[in-house]
Amino acid sequence: MKQFLMSLAIFCAAFAFGAANASPGPNSIAPTVPIAAPKDRAYPGEIRLKVDASDLERRIVRVHEALSGVSTDTVLLYPKWLPGTHAPEGPIDRLAGIRITANGAPVSWTRDTVDVYAFHVHPAAGVKSIDIDFDYLSPTSPKVGAIEISRDILLLEWNSLIFYPAGYFTRQIPVEASLTLPVDWKFGSALETMSASGAETKFKRVSLNTFVDSPVYAGRYAARLDLDPSGPAQVHLNLFADRPELLAIKPEQLEAHRNLVQQAYKVFGSHHYSHYDFLYSLSDQVQQNGLEHHQSSEDGSDPNALTEWNKTAYGRDLLAHEFTHSWNGKFRRPADLWTPNYQVPMQDSLLWVYEGQTEYWGQVLTARSGLWTHQQALDQLALTAAYYEVQAGRRWRALQDTTNDEIINPRRPMSWRNWQRFEDYYSEGQLIWLDADTLIRERSQGKRSLDDFARVFFGIEDGSFTTVTYNFEDLVKALNSVEAYDWAAFLRARLDSIGKPAPFDGLRRGGYKLVFSDTPSEFLKAHEDQSKRVNLLFSIGVELDDKDGTVLEVLWDSAAFKAKLTESSVILAINGAAYSADVLKDAIRSAKATNLPIELIVKSGDRFRVLNLDYHDGLRYPRLEREPSVPARLDEILAARK
Ligand SMILES: [Zn+2]
Repeated sequence: MKQFLMSLAIFCAAFAFGAANASPGPNSIAPTVPIAAPKDRAYPGEIRLKVDASDLERRIVRVHEALSGVSTDTVLLYPKWLPGTHAPEGPIDRLAGIRITANGAPVSWTRDTVDVYAFHVHPAAGVKSIDIDFDYLSPTSPKVGAIEISRDILLLEWNSLIFYPAGYFTRQIPVEASLTLPVDWKFGSALETMSASGAETKFKRVSLNTFVDSPVYAGRYAARLDLDPSGPAQVHLNLFADRPELLAIKPEQLEAHRNLVQQAYKVFGSHHYSHYDFLYSLSDQVQQNGLEHHQSSEDGSDPNALTEWNKTAYGRDLLAHEFTHSWNGKFRRPADLWTPNYQVPMQDSLLWVYEGQTEYWGQVLTARSGLWTHQQALDQLALTAAYYEVQAGRRWRALQDTTNDEIINPRRPMSWRNWQRFEDYYSEGQLIWLDADTLIRERSQGKRSLDDFARVFFGIEDGSFTTVTYNFEDLVKALNSVEAYDWAAFLRARLDSIGKPAPFDGLRRGGYKLVFSDTPSEFLKAHEDQSKRVNLLFSIGVELDDKDGTVLEVLWDSAAFKAKLTESSVILAINGAAYSADVLKDAIRSAKATNLPIELIVKSGDRFRVLNLDYHDGLRYPRLEREPSVPARLDEILAARK
């Protein structure tokens, strides 16, 4: 068999070589019809959009769009590169029933064969407007895509529901939209209402840029809370829940959300919206979003996030993260990430600022506002630091390169995430900004901090929400205006180095060090309970589904890796006893005193295997320990500003 294959390979190679001599080989064909590049000029027409999102059972959204200003060779575009996801993720696979007409007569269309998000339409000469009807088929099950519509909640992103003309900046295309929701539902959006009649709401005209940036959340059970009754701009928390009792918010919880707004103003010294709406779903029936917009954000958490406050601290930095984006990301945006329309590719090279510093401020503001206790903020930071301490992928891949990850992999599951690295510009970015903050505090002897940078960089043009772009040099200049230092070298060393230890200088200078003990923090324990996961990443190197022992992640080079355990295997038994998290933890504890391996019976597909786990260091969970010889700068960073 082996010999036969080798003979065949030799034969094929010889044949291919012979063919190459007979012909020069294929050549590329002529490109398809060009699509006009976006220009900054007024669109000579408008979009009138009519959306019916009342079909909750079938989750089909009916769209009627009237587009004026067309010509005989109009190209319609479906948004492809989406702000906030920084990637070509427009859900074009969910469209059906596209029908284009002019004065009731059909107009033919063909899809561009290079850019499948572009549609060439050819109305007759003299036709100035066309009608486009189509269905947006929102996922009916998680295997199709994240759920947007349940019987009680609707998450509606306009980029899924609109075609727009090629050749214009999106800010130059006016949109007037109406939305029909189920009867008696309430909604929240940064869009302003022009009129409402029955189940239909008409919104005030805005640019396409603002329209796509202003999603709608709606629901049967909703609450709208004023977070800044006397502030410079209205800020509302719009809650949508699976059941009415999940909306109950205690006075101290509301107070912490109100503090978030005030603490953000103390950092940034400005606001960049005319009003701001948190669109917040408390649901396990629809996807739990975290997506920033200029005057709103899409936020989602478990149904019991408010009603079981003490058990749901993990992830509670979401609202502060998305709110921070109104300044960092929406108002100030990397120049290579800003695009004039949704077809021009985005470049993600500065996401360690856009996402990394937002992750930093998100957690700092969550602590300063009281949404987290001081201890919860420390415990989250310990988890982040510990993850990077054991991250094998640092050995081959620079942090800078991970800024491409959302384009490489739009958050599909990975088999060896820890070896590949994934979107580390968020959390490792956060550690770099802690490093920078503590360095400014140390060098200025406590007189200045990253708060001053935030005011200089994001606090300009108070009240304006016209995006201001920046590049690496602008960032370095702003840092230098706060504290003179070689910031370019500081940042590039941390972004481009390969094989260096995780950046813990900020922790050290903050007066803390990462340590491990055999009991998890309250914060981690609550997260394990809430998520039904077992975190043994820092001991044997796995995370498990608590219910059935399914392996969710295996750390590269860990004891579990060496025993050849893989993601999606199921641990059936430990040392002859049926799987439970407690049995496994007991075995890890007992193995500390012996040289004997822990024996696992594992099911992978239809194979059963016996694995020997050679691990003797006991249970290990991260926490931060105070280093008394260094000033407690981290405590100062996390404390509410007066
Ligand atoms: Zn973000």
